[in-house]
Amino acid sequence: MSPTTPELDLFRTDLRARSAYAEGAGIFRILPGAVAVPASVEEVRRVVDWARREGRPLVPRGAGSSIAGGAVGSGIVVDLRERMPRTLEVDPGNSSAITSANVTHGELNERAAQHGLRLPPDPSSGAWATLGGMVSCNAAGARSVKYGSVRGWVEGLELVTADGETGWLWRGGRRGDGLQALERLAVGAAPAIRSAAELVRRRFPAVRKNASGYALDHWLGSGDDLDLLVGAEGTLALVTTVAWRLDPVPPARASMLVALGKLESLEEAVRALTALDPSAVELLDRTFLDLITLAATSVDLPEVPPGCQAILLVEFEGENGAQVRGRTGDAVRALGSLALDVVTALTPADERRLWTLRHAASPILASLPPDRRSMQVIEDGCVPLAALGEYVRSIREAASRESLTVVIFGHAGDGNVHVNVLPDLGRPDWAERVGRLYESVQASALDLGGTLSGEHGDGRLRSGWLVRQYGAEIVDLFRQVKTAFDPHGILNPGVKLDDGAPPLSRLKVGRDAAPIPDDIAQALGQIERSGGYALSRLEIADRHQDSATP
Ligand SMILES: Cc1cc2nc3c(=O)[nH]c(=O)nc-3n(C[C@H](O)[C@H](O)[C@H](O)COP(=O)(O)OP(=O)(O)OC[C@H]3O[C@@H](n4cnc5c(N)ncnc54)[C@H](O)[C@@H]3O)c2cc1C
Repeated sequence: MSPTTPELDLFRTDLRARSAYAEGAGIFRILPGAVAVPASVEEVRRVVDWARREGRPLVPRGAGSSIAGGAVGSGIVVDLRERMPRTLEVDPGNSSAITSANVTHGELNERAAQHGLRLPPDPSSGAWATLGGMVSCNAAGARSVKYGSVRGWVEGLELVTADGETGWLWRGGRRGDGLQALERLAVGAAPAIRSAAELVRRRFPAVRKNASGYALDHWLGSGDDLDLLVGAEGTLALVTTVAWRLDPVPPARASMLVALGKLESLEEAVRALTALDPSAVELLDRTFLDLITLAATSVDLPEVPPGCQAILLVEFEGENGAQVRGRTGDAVRALGSLALDVVTALTPADERRLWTLRHAASPILASLPPDRRSMQVIEDGCVPLAALGEYVRSIREAASRESLTVVIFGHAGDGNVHVNVLPDLGRPDWAERVGRLYESVQASALDLGGTLSGEHGDGRLRSGWLVRQYGAEIVDLFRQVKTAFDPHGILNPGVKLDDGAPPLSRLKVGRDAAPIPDDIAQALGQIERSGGYALSRLEIADRHQDSATP
């Protein structure tokens, strides 16, 4: 980086700052070339102008909790959370909100709740995930089975484009302030995508959620350019402000735990439950239950009957208690003999106890010994509901072939399954085994008509698979979209579109992990173990300055 650039005041190039931003959630540790921490839209524009002039890649970043590696990279990390101004305005009359990208989902919902409103998609990372990061990953959560992913709730986006222009994009065909990027899209990629509409229809998977590739299918359906930005993982523009549609918080809720004795019953049970319009149908596989049993946790967990192969946690929301109680009764009848056992929770206290089971995994995974680091390599496949049982079975079988422990859970109602792999890092061949598991399970998801990512995005982990998922012609359309928005390739290269880097390289574990100061490695490990993504990375960098490595 040239020391004469007038933008130097915006960058940190010292090893401690670079190290503090070298990791996010997920498997990677990649030291960035520098860190930029802008404090205004104007400063974001200066950083972008500098990057374009110097031909340097930028890695936009919110809380750094995305799992596929979109928020880490060897370019200049642009922290859009730390110092940017904060806006959080709820308009109860219009059930809408305007927030800066650095506000968290939790903060928005806390404010919206004062007016009986909420943003319904509910990632379990909502306490720290920034709304800019959620838009950029098309985040979702347990309630997405009823309310969809974030995409459906975004009304407008304020962007800084790769040309250094700022402007708004809105739903409903309103064009975005004459931005050059949109002009290029309109004359280049847009006609090509329209004439490939039939191919898009055939090649995009028939799944309930998809965060892989650019959403050409949604763009064709809505005609709204912002549909390409939702889920773009910082590769098309930087998001600075978001306009949201909100929804009333339903007055009543009830939950139930359904224990299944056979994995074969999963599809039918999920089908029976989704027909009743639930607000959540979450899967805890046998592998997940085994982990909890082993951990002998002191938490007061609901009892799981012996022989249980999988649990479904189900929630119904409605207008009043009678309605949601009725729904749980309907569910019990619809499940019939598919369920080994059913426990209903009709009071908030009972509900909390049931859902404790879902939340118990994170602290247990966090407390594993250092040679059992939990790795997320096949963690977000989403398949048609009819293939869910088959997909879970294929993960279990592939893991057993490689003698790897896996923990499987996720959003059954959407066919979206998360997997944590717990390799024994003491074994010399752990990396090969994990690599084979990755290949095998990704292939299963595609063979079953699924997508590799339901809600976390492609990042650096899955970008190399887009050709296999969509075919070369669709990926060529993705490249045309990318070129329209980012002709100089400065926005998050290697994320979404492959840059040839092996997906399971540059790991935070193992012998080849990039060296960073010990105290920072420990602090980042602690963030991962405790879900401490809200912590300022600059604060970590600036701790113990006296002993800082130059
Ligand atoms: C324990 C745990 C649980 C999780 N649970 C869920 C879940 O239930 N559902 C779910 O969907 N996800 C979940 N996630 C993943 C993650 O929290 C989400 O992807 C979240 O949306 C990321 O937000 P972030 O602010 O951390 O973004 P980051 O990780 O910082 O960034 C995510 C991506 O967006 C880009 N980006 C960030 N901000 C901007 C911006 N302002 N403009 C342009 N690009 C930007 C980055 O370049 C990157 O590609 C979980 C993660 C963890 C660790």
